[in-house]
Amino acid sequence: MYSRLILLLVGVLAFSATLAPASAADGAKKKLLVVTVTKGFRHSSIPTAEGVLAKLAESSGLFTVDFARNDAELTVKMSAAALRGYDGIIFANTTGQLPIPDKQAFLNEIRGGKAFIGMHSASDTYNSRGEVDPFIELLGGEFQGHGDQVGVECLVQDREHPSTRHLGESYCLEREEIYLFKNYDRRRVRDLLILDKHPNRKSEQGHFPVSWCRLYGQGKIFYTSLGHREDVWENANYQQHILGGIKWALGLEPGEASPLPVPE
Ligand SMILES: [Zn+2]
Repeated sequence: MYSRLILLLVGVLAFSATLAPASAADGAKKKLLVVTVTKGFRHSSIPTAEGVLAKLAESSGLFTVDFARNDAELTVKMSAAALRGYDGIIFANTTGQLPIPDKQAFLNEIRGGKAFIGMHSASDTYNSRGEVDPFIELLGGEFQGHGDQVGVECLVQDREHPSTRHLGESYCLEREEIYLFKNYDRRRVRDLLILDKHPNRKSEQGHFPVSWCRLYGQGKIFYTSLGHREDVWENANYQQHILGGIKWALGLEPGEASPLPVPE
């Protein structure tokens, strides 16, 4: 009688023990909201982007992703109250004036110490009308335009940062749409990838940012302008680039955010 009871107790304890670590691990995962709503151009790579981010969440085991794919989901998941439940927000190829319910609450959440990660046309979102939009201030640069898709060699500016340290000295892409920026100042961001010549007029030398990070109050901002094409999203180097950026922005891996010295 007692032995059967003891067996039952042992069984229950063993069962709870197998459950406990799993639920504790889930509770420890960071929570990200991925926004893919567009009010301007809509990239055909968005479904690929959503799939890649879900896969990175799963394979890293470090964070979960929730999606806001339309206005209704945006209204619910980006309310001031709902935002408090996330550790960070990703704008994956968003465009235009997104109808989020409380933009100031969103900016305040990030400023207060959360992560913001933007890919490609995230910088073509909340475009400035007259004065620089507060979202562009957060991001550190704004889409200005692009030429034809080209092959480029992106020069790694920070060999230690989690988003770029796997790339060596440079990251070559065979074909991608490369953005030019306005409302960008290299003294207000930390460049991670740049081009030293114009993407479409290679004889024109200069400083052309591709990816950067920065602090916004206590919040960490990671942006990469790469991510137009499906095959860029599917590329292992690109996935490591954005995963490193996500980990850094969530505070899971260290990395500098101070602007690099500007040569005389
Ligand atoms: Zn594009």
